[in-house]
Amino acid sequence: MEKKADIGLIGLAVMGENLVLNMESKGFSVAVYNRTTEKVDKFIEGRGAGKNFIGTHSIEELVGALATPRKVMMLVKAGQPVDDFIEQIIPHLDQGDIIIDGGNSYFEDTIRRTKYVEGKGFKFVGTGVSGGEIGALRGPSMMPGGSKEAWPEVKEIFQAIAAKVDDGVPCCDWVGADGAGHFVKMIHNGIEYGDMQIITEAYQFMKEVLGMSYDEMHETFKKWNKEELDSYLIEITADIMAFKDEDGEPMVEKILDTAGQKGTGKWTGIAAMHLGVPLTLIGESVFSRFLSAQLDLRAKASEVFEAPEIKFDGDKTKMLDDLKMALYGAKIISYAQGYNLLMEASKEHGWDLNYGAIALMWRGGCIIRSAFLGDINKAFDKAPDLPHLLLDSFFRDKVQAAQQGWRNVCATAISNGIPVPSLSSALSYFDGFRSKRLPANLLQAQRDYFGAHTYERVDKPRGEFFHTNWTGEG
Ligand code: NAP
Repeated sequence: MEKKADIGLIGLAVMGENLVLNMESKGFSVAVYNRTTEKVDKFIEGRGAGKNFIGTHSIEELVGALATPRKVMMLVKAGQPVDDFIEQIIPHLDQGDIIIDGGNSYFEDTIRRTKYVEGKGFKFVGTGVSGGEIGALRGPSMMPGGSKEAWPEVKEIFQAIAAKVDDGVPCCDWVGADGAGHFVKMIHNGIEYGDMQIITEAYQFMKEVLGMSYDEMHETFKKWNKEELDSYLIEITADIMAFKDEDGEPMVEKILDTAGQKGTGKWTGIAAMHLGVPLTLIGESVFSRFLSAQLDLRAKASEVFEAPEIKFDGDKTKMLDDLKMALYGAKIISYAQGYNLLMEASKEHGWDLNYGAIALMWRGGCIIRSAFLGDINKAFDKAPDLPHLLLDSFFRDKVQAAQQGWRNVCATAISNGIPVPSLSSALSYFDGFRSKRLPANLLQAQRDYFGAHTYERVDKPRGEFFHTNWTGEG
């Protein structure tokens, strides 16, 4: 009898091609299909040549080539193509077969698709796959959610291909029901936006306030990568600082200052708005990308407004230490806010997320991998019901220790006219978070004044509402 493949894949683009090569290298046989079928032949004759792949030219042929329970994974453009493929796959499945979506799908779509596919008697897995092309080939971080009964069937393949950190733990574990995996991937992407933004703010501060050369910045990021900030993004920033164009000038100086985005940061911000979570750092990071894209407006405004003269005659070494603390403090805030959003979403959707395990999934194979995630895991190990990361003793002490340097950096940047939207909004969030009393009393008074929206009183039980006739009129 013809040997059947362990898993099938639809979508031989960047991610799919590398992921199936990864699967095959771990001993799994893979049947592959692509809408433009020439790509199947090209792959089988090219990178897939002599390997354990079955090339197929229709969905029917693909599904027919799989061992049961069948696992059909899609790595195609997110959106309508995923729904279209689900419709094409379903008629060829038997009870218990599994459809997997490994693309960057919106979690609400995954909630809907899980329900739909389960309603037809099959299982659905929506998994975040992070780490881009290299991650897909060498080991991505994977965040699967969906039909829980599918997990034992896909676990072996997923954990075999996922990134492993030093202790051998795979960066892949079951996240939760329906859209939980894609939600966690979305938060990962939002955190990535935040981490990148605070690094760019530090870069502008070093360059414009401290007048540092690219070689000095390279050395600083390299040093920071051996300390608390040890992370992939700090590591590649050090490399970028050292990279010269053909004319010997820093390559980064030649790059147009307008940031692109595919929308996952925006989705994270929207989810925070829906759930009422103060996700200020990631929000500012998304807005900063929008501001960067307003190139023409900024060019006009730069002619209208005079920038303050940059004055810094302090101790540069001390200010660099402060800058590191600003990054570290803001990073803690960003993850604390991201986890706050995870917790609220978990309650809203009944996902029962395992927060410590999520930190472990992000420790390797993805863009936000860092030493710091091990500390987050420890915090949730100590207290699985921790209500907020800033209330963990380790992070509390770290933020306390970082705050003076962080304040110095924000004050210096602001007085010199250097934008630090994410570093400063994170600091303001921290100041608000640690305040027993905020000025929302005035806000409530205003709402009551103009709209009779009522207010609660500090000297009465919660839930009792009052109204004042502020003007004394009829
Ligand atoms: P992609 O450019 O997002 O999509 C290309 C694949 O989708 C091709 O197989 C293409 O088939 C198929 N496709 C596009 N439109 C289609 C349609 N209307 N109907 C049917 N098939 C269609 O590929 P990718 O960059 O490899 O990404 C795959 C998924 O992983 C996406 O959801 C992406 O967001 C996610 N992702 C990507 C990265 C990355 O670094 N690239 C990282 C993480 C996650 P044809 O060849 O026939 O056009």
